[in-house]
Amino acid sequence: MFQPTSDGNGGSGGGGTLGNGYHHGGGSGGGHLTGHRLRRGCRGRSRDHGGGSNPRVSQQQQEKEKAPPPCTDFDVAYFHSYAHLGIHEEMIKDRVRTETYRNAIFQHRDRIAGKVVVDVGCGTGILSIFCAQAGARRVYAVDASDIAVQANEVIKANNLSDTIIVLHGRVEDVEIEDKVDVIVSEWMGYMLLYESMLGSVITARDRWLKPGGLILPSYATLYMAPISHPDRYGESIDFWRNVYGIDMSVMMPLAKQCAFEEPSVETISGENVLTWPHVVKHVDCCTITIHELETVSTRFKFKSMMRAPFHGFVFWFDVEFGVPAINSSDSNAPPAFVEAPDNQVTDTSQRKKRANPNEALVLSTAPEEPPTHWQQTLIYFYDPIEVEQDQLIEGSVTLTQSKENPRFMNIHLEYASGGRSFVKESVMR
Ligand code: SAH
Repeated sequence: MFQPTSDGNGGSGGGGTLGNGYHHGGGSGGGHLTGHRLRRGCRGRSRDHGGGSNPRVSQQQQEKEKAPPPCTDFDVAYFHSYAHLGIHEEMIKDRVRTETYRNAIFQHRDRIAGKVVVDVGCGTGILSIFCAQAGARRVYAVDASDIAVQANEVIKANNLSDTIIVLHGRVEDVEIEDKVDVIVSEWMGYMLLYESMLGSVITARDRWLKPGGLILPSYATLYMAPISHPDRYGESIDFWRNVYGIDMSVMMPLAKQCAFEEPSVETISGENVLTWPHVVKHVDCCTITIHELETVSTRFKFKSMMRAPFHGFVFWFDVEFGVPAINSSDSNAPPAFVEAPDNQVTDTSQRKKRANPNEALVLSTAPEEPPTHWQQTLIYFYDPIEVEQDQLIEGSVTLTQSKENPRFMNIHLEYASGGRSFVKESVMR
């Protein structure tokens, strides 16, 4: 888990150019890792770093463009967490993730060859290198984390420095003279929106993408569904009933709080899922705005497919590369789904499998798909609800960026079933 220190020394704004074509934007110190929470942990205290001034931006230009958002301590801590190689190793070793990106890049060779690409958050540079292999004329590999220094070394060692320019700074601060044909980025956090990196992709799009340009991935969809997980509940809670023959059940209220107060990132199986999923949010990366992401809210209505203890909700996402949904002139429309069996609720937002008539590549983190490093995100109740087959589960969920730290996410859940209603508040931090 990430632990901040108070001596954050600075921003990660765009900056000077080193001799090798590598652009350096100042260190992003200010924290240290004490064992990372896999990916995407960031903690810190709010203090303004004053907006990452950028000497490469002329005054005139600055007046024309809106001033970039300030680089806060939270951002410094966030970028520092990405300087840790372990996070990148984990992402690269996630073959489902990395191979889908590589396939998507090669599938779009005709849109990439001879063109200008920006890689938003290049990390080790792996996606930039895939783009160079797909024939890109120029790739701008941008990352505010010190991992950019390593990316530059990798690019040099692979003789790609003429094609790939590493910019060490925030996408919000660095300058790129060209307009770009393609944006590639791996921005997805747990529950899709945790970590709030999509905002930086939107910034890159609005700053540099040519009209009609390609964004990979192009669409993203967040899903939720009710789950039953007796084994997990038993391991964490019922365990205290009999500990080496001792009745420790007085621990159970505390155990529920410890285990289930916060969202839990874990891998479940399709068998734990009680209904077809509901689409919480569908994102078209070409049109989504930063404002739209501040609060995401939806009402849901599920019908349990079986009699079971209902333990909570699972969230997962998928992203789609390239091809727009068929028969849809409205790119904001939610994705099409394959028909659910007849006995299911007919609400289209609750159907299970994505229809994919155009064969767009999909990277899915669904429970029934091969596991990824994102796993799934679970919100457990303190006490299960016994549901009958066909019992309705209704309610709403609201995801908001935390005021405490915009990279955290507040999750407000209201749900009702069998005549009882509940509210659960949690924070993904
Ligand atoms: N593209 C790499 C790394 C993805 S992780 C890969 O696929 O393996 C996301 C990366 O984005 C991190 O290295 C993080 O430092 C970087 N990042 C996030 N927000 C950014 C921003 N606003 N500007 C520059 N880099 C950013």
